[in-house]
Amino acid sequence: MSYPHTLSNFYGGQFVASASDRSEPVPNPATGETITRVPLSNRADLDAAVRAAKEAFPAWSGTPVPRRARILFKFQQLLVEHWEELARLVTLENGKSYGEAYGEVQRGIECVEFAAGVPTLMMGSVLPDIATGIESAMYRYPIGVVGGIAPFNFPMMVPSWMFPLAIACGNTFVLKPSERTPLTANRLAELFKEAGLPDGVFNVVHGAHEVVNGLLEHPDVRAISFVGSQPVAEYVYKTAASHGKRVQALGGAKNHTIVLPDADLDLAVKEITNAAFGSAGERCMACSVVVAVGGIGDRLAELLTDRAKRLVIGNGMDDGVFLGPVIRDNHKSRTVGYIEKGVQEGAKLLLDGRESAAAGEAGYFLGPTIFDQVDRDMQIWRDEIFAPVLQIVRVNTLDDAIAWANASEFANGACLFTSNSGAVRQFRETIDAGMLGINVGVPAPMAFFPFSGYKKSFYGDLHANGKDGVEFYTRKKMIVARY
Ligand code: NAD
Repeated sequence: MSYPHTLSNFYGGQFVASASDRSEPVPNPATGETITRVPLSNRADLDAAVRAAKEAFPAWSGTPVPRRARILFKFQQLLVEHWEELARLVTLENGKSYGEAYGEVQRGIECVEFAAGVPTLMMGSVLPDIATGIESAMYRYPIGVVGGIAPFNFPMMVPSWMFPLAIACGNTFVLKPSERTPLTANRLAELFKEAGLPDGVFNVVHGAHEVVNGLLEHPDVRAISFVGSQPVAEYVYKTAASHGKRVQALGGAKNHTIVLPDADLDLAVKEITNAAFGSAGERCMACSVVVAVGGIGDRLAELLTDRAKRLVIGNGMDDGVFLGPVIRDNHKSRTVGYIEKGVQEGAKLLLDGRESAAAGEAGYFLGPTIFDQVDRDMQIWRDEIFAPVLQIVRVNTLDDAIAWANASEFANGACLFTSNSGAVRQFRETIDAGMLGINVGVPAPMAFFPFSGYKKSFYGDLHANGKDGVEFYTRKKMIVARY
């Protein structure tokens, strides 16, 4: 597959070269070789895309909802037909293993499937007799042009949390993909057009801060969906809200997995290994910290280290590879900095990813790293590292474990491994996290339910996906009528 020297933006139904003369290379993280360049688009590019979206809005929002849904069905069909191609694209630009990428495409397709149910989702409600001879009803409408800003770690799934549902609800959309993984978005735009989407309904503008700020400040953009790191989520939330926009901003994470002595340890070790090191730890639902309860710490540490040592590291395109590269060389250096920091802070380094043979290759590889004896005053515990680095802490009781997890500034996900239903109940009621896993390593977001998350992991009110997504992308009118 060959790619243009520099990617184009996509608006008004066609690819358009950016007006900016600034661009940056997009390397394949597994080899370091440049695949293409991504334009760092400017305000003129963004304004043109928003204009296209604004012009398309009256006709699209006025298109009967079942007709909109039919285009979503066709889009779903095309995504299924191009499933393998899309998965290869995700692996190429992100580095995750092909199997992980294939699963990511499935999650994206499910978002389109959910959005295709829009005739039911958009229904209002009516009470025929709210007073004598008086009826009251609620009608649901789209809100206008919506802006989406995406991170690098799920180039297919995260944009799919946003644009299919927003568009199904009758909005038009301008997506700013991550400049580090810009390829998949262009392919999605082509396929959506092939499905029959009218020009201007879905638009893609590549770039970085300038495009983001343009979206946040643009008077014709009504709402912003953001997914990315915590500081940027907070900035996006505050800036877009101060410009009168509806915002949902999903931020970073530091997910804890509690393992009780009555857990199936083999299952826990398999699931935690996948959750900590799958996708090179670059998942907002990655397991970052294992909390071993009641004397199982040594055994758990030994089993996790043994399993991690056996993981196959390499190019995600190759058969049997589990752990691909991290996204960029500077992310690798940042992670190495955290490993050095952990050693300085007194954590016990059980497995050192810097020593993996792959760490010397041209791609941005790091082996799995495991720290034991981590404490709450350590920076490696406080910060999101977002790389294949797992930390183990030890406590005496489930109460202590929950208190430990709840002390984090983040509250995205948390998991519990146990065979005790009472413990499950206590965990569910008292853990401060939005996505909970019981005897699973990754409480994965599903298109049909909201992707929850609290504290510094989420800024806003309505979450992404599910009925929260429908609420976010629609506004309501109420009627009180006497006939
Ligand atoms: P990032 O915050 O660096 O980038 C996200 C988007 O914001 C990109 O499109 C980028 O161009 C833009 N951006 C970055 N810095 C900016 C700035 N200073 N001003 C304006 N725009 C800016 O995030 P990332 O590194 O691409 O993605 C990884 C992060 O995303 C992790 O923290 C991860 O936990 C988080 N994430 C969260 C979820 C979730 O559901 N909560 C899901 C996926 C990823």
